[in-house]
Amino acid sequence: MSSPVNFDFHCHSAISDGILSPSQVVAWAAGLGVSHLALTDHDDISGLAEARQAAEDAGIVFVNGVEISIEWREIPIHVVGLGFDVEHPGLLAGLESLRGGRVERARRMGEAFAAIGIPGVFEGAMRYAANPQLISRAHFARYLVEIGLFKETSRVFDHYLKPGKPGYVEHRWASLADALGWIQAAGGVAVVAHPGRYKMSSGEMRRFLEDFKDKGGRALEVVCGSHTPEHARHFARLARQFDFYASRGSDFHDPDERYVNSGPLAPLPEDLKPVWRLLSL
Ligand code: AMP
Ligand code: MN
Ligand code: MN
Ligand code: MN
Repeated sequence: MSSPVNFDFHCHSAISDGILSPSQVVAWAAGLGVSHLALTDHDDISGLAEARQAAEDAGIVFVNGVEISIEWREIPIHVVGLGFDVEHPGLLAGLESLRGGRVERARRMGEAFAAIGIPGVFEGAMRYAANPQLISRAHFARYLVEIGLFKETSRVFDHYLKPGKPGYVEHRWASLADALGWIQAAGGVAVVAHPGRYKMSSGEMRRFLEDFKDKGGRALEVVCGSHTPEHARHFARLARQFDFYASRGSDFHDPDERYVNSGPLAPLPEDLKPVWRLLSL
């Protein structure tokens, strides 16, 4: 029997780099039997009102969410915020500042592609971005699949969009202190997104988790669409060691994407404290 709380606290709409509208994301989640949902677009919370309404109509408990891009000791990391006040001025201003540089970065990415003989990539990627302020590497990857560079977006990332590859352009994201400050000032809970995806040694991961905890972070994504079962076991152990709550999220962007698993998520290990207990639902 499945748990009565089947929560997915990590997914994306076309407000950032997903392909469905916020209400379509809710319909997708309803189809998988999700009972509690957070929409967590990158650096933007303008889809939450529509998603909340659709979730209420579908009988799903809705939680405000966002996925904030940070860098910690020059490593890009994502922090999910849950259950915050969507009108908090500090959070709104922080997210706005973070969106500010994306178009400029995307232009520079376009120039980098032109320099290796692939012109028109900025304009092509922009066509995929319903919200131009949130232009992301995911939109570039979709356009580069369209023009036949590779069949899969993950291959485009491996060859062109990851650090050190020709289309990669560095960007200044928020600091850990900024992101946790904004989330907590707005009454929310901070969660480390997909910890299995970062290029970090185990020592660096421990130092990051210590810093995250010192600054008020409360939870880790243990079960996640881009985690293997081994990742889930590993981060369950770290959640116990650091006394973190555990989150669970698909990181859904697109029903056809293979990069994350978009089927039903595994349950959390039963001894972990689910992060929804920290939220007033
Ligand atoms: P950005 O925020 O512009 O740096 O873009 C990051 C986004 O690209 C992530 O949120 C994912 O949606 C997507 N992404 C990152 N790595 C990969 C990968 N290896 N394969 C496919 N998509 C990826
Ligand atoms: Mn994304
Ligand atoms: Mn992420
Ligand atoms: Mn995500």
